[in-house]
Amino acid sequence: MYKRILLKLSGEQLQGEQNGGFDTDRAKWIAHEVKTAVQAGTQVVIMVGGGNYARGAQLANDAIQRITGDYVGMLATMMNALTLEDVFNHQGLDTRALTNVKSDQVLDQFTHRRAMSHLAKNRVVIVAGGIGRPFLTTDTAAVSLALELDCDAVIKTTKVDGVYSADPAKDPGATKYDTLSYDEVLQNPAIAVMDKAAIGLAMEQNKPVIVCDLLAAGNVARAAAGEAVGTIIS
Ligand code: UDP
Repeated sequence: MYKRILLKLSGEQLQGEQNGGFDTDRAKWIAHEVKTAVQAGTQVVIMVGGGNYARGAQLANDAIQRITGDYVGMLATMMNALTLEDVFNHQGLDTRALTNVKSDQVLDQFTHRRAMSHLAKNRVVIVAGGIGRPFLTTDTAAVSLALELDCDAVIKTTKVDGVYSADPAKDPGATKYDTLSYDEVLQNPAIAVMDKAAIGLAMEQNKPVIVCDLLAAGNVARAAAGEAVGTIIS
């Protein structure tokens, strides 16, 4: 049983079956999954992505700077944090959202002390704004936050039940890895589960990353309990 985990949720997961935006039903379902882990005694920190609204690299073009796009992406993560916080609290899961991008009227600023104080009260902490700087993604921000908040593992939830040798949606011969070393992930160009920067940081600090399917009921709680789910990168 892990004492504390960092759960990375992408924007795509929050849009449910829609093509964008925020799906309340999906968020309620995630609340239930997280609640199971919390009730079993694991504290949960969530880093939210923003790809359901905007991604910096996709917005950038001849007229829009990449940095501008990245700030829009960070704002997108804040929209997700706001609505996810409401849904979690509505579902009876005591939750506070914080942001790494200054925006006093919208969300409380992330500080280490504030986050730790919420966790001490067994609240779920959602963090928006990534790291608050451009040219990064929320995957790298997730690993960094896991280190800062002393989480035992990073749980990166995906659409399939772990890391495969190829995309299982396209290649029927793709096989799943139960375990991988950081080096194997960094050196294999076919493995693109997380940015290399995120994996590099996890490797340097020896922080395990568990890749598993969000939509398999009970997976988050099982990963939090230390059971073998998906693929563990360590
Ligand atoms: N972003 C950033 N710095 C950060 C985190 C995120 O600039 O520390 C921007 C970046 O443009 C990114 C967008 O915010 O594309 C949304 O985050 P991400 O793409 O990681 O969301 P996800 O794919 O997980 O939904």
